[in-house]
Amino acid sequence: MSRVYNFSAGPSMLPEPVLKKAADEMLDYQGCGQSVMEMSHRSKQFDGIIKDCEALLREVMNIPDNYKVLFLQGGCSSQFAMVPMNLMNKNNKADYVITGQWAKKAAKEAARYGEVNIVASSEDKTFTYIPKLDKSTFSKDADYFYICMNNTIYGTVYHELPDTGDIPLVADISSCIMSEPIDVSKFGCLIAGAQKNLAPAGLTIVIIREDLIGNAMDITPTMFNYKTHADANSLFNTPPCWTIYVAKLVLEWIKNEVGGLDKMKELNEKKAKVLYDFLDNSKLFKGTVVKEDRSLMNVPFVTGDKDMDAKFVEEATKAGFVNIKGHRTVGGMRASIYNAMPYEGVEKLVEFMKKFEEENA
Ligand code: PMP
Repeated sequence: MSRVYNFSAGPSMLPEPVLKKAADEMLDYQGCGQSVMEMSHRSKQFDGIIKDCEALLREVMNIPDNYKVLFLQGGCSSQFAMVPMNLMNKNNKADYVITGQWAKKAAKEAARYGEVNIVASSEDKTFTYIPKLDKSTFSKDADYFYICMNNTIYGTVYHELPDTGDIPLVADISSCIMSEPIDVSKFGCLIAGAQKNLAPAGLTIVIIREDLIGNAMDITPTMFNYKTHADANSLFNTPPCWTIYVAKLVLEWIKNEVGGLDKMKELNEKKAKVLYDFLDNSKLFKGTVVKEDRSLMNVPFVTGDKDMDAKFVEEATKAGFVNIKGHRTVGGMRASIYNAMPYEGVEKLVEFMKKFEEENA
């Protein structure tokens, strides 16, 4: 067996011990004679899995008791509609900061349901920075304030949260969930697709303050109403059972093998530093993001020459560093170095880049 280093932006690498455990339990989950893929979501076994998954998520992320955790489907993209349908419920208005395609898509979707005020945008420089926010531009009567915390395509992250006072802060944390500790109490609602740092594709996680649930717009479909899923503990209909099971294994890995989110952050910082230090001193490659807003998870870089970029991607792929081509709107390369990417993977990539630089600079 030969496994590659997979720098995909999502779905992405899963920790090898998790894949092995899932393989071991594939045909017969803990002696029940069935795979988790086959069992009823109403079974005793699955009830244990979903409860353990939620308990672990609460423990690892230190989620306060007055927050609900929802396991949903539809991807984070469905949340772009669910958030306004459920939360634009007093003044029909929300503030959005545009830091990339995902924030832009979320704002466009929200505008179908109410008034969207764009507080700031970094589109003028291809989203290579997080815009400074001026509180005087915030709406005083917004129902919520929306940010995309880590911008997967552009490689930026908020190091400081906007101060929105009593207005609930909503954040898309798809590409940074579980990468470091986060103070959940600072948010009204957190949304995330799980396919980067937590599980295979198919699971969407919503962490929402209880008092924000129950006032959805009348037009809200039953399946898009947070209350439907909160009341049924995410078992209103068939949940993504297999993905929830793998998320549970990943959470066990973070808790028991990594040692929690403080340790996870240390490892992620160490990994990102090797790559950023190299980029800062390279004669050929250059990071595209301003230093102070760099993400620990997604690292875009370019050579400045499209043909050279293509040559690098081709040779890197041949050498076992796959999915490293940048998003079409940025070009160049992007190394997504989520939790499951081992330190050694980044170290070897940097060695490969050094060699490529010597041969091509
Ligand atoms: N938000 C962010 C930050 C993302 O990176 C992505 C997907 N890459 C999405 C939202 C959309 O998620 P999904 O594909 O689960 O709908």
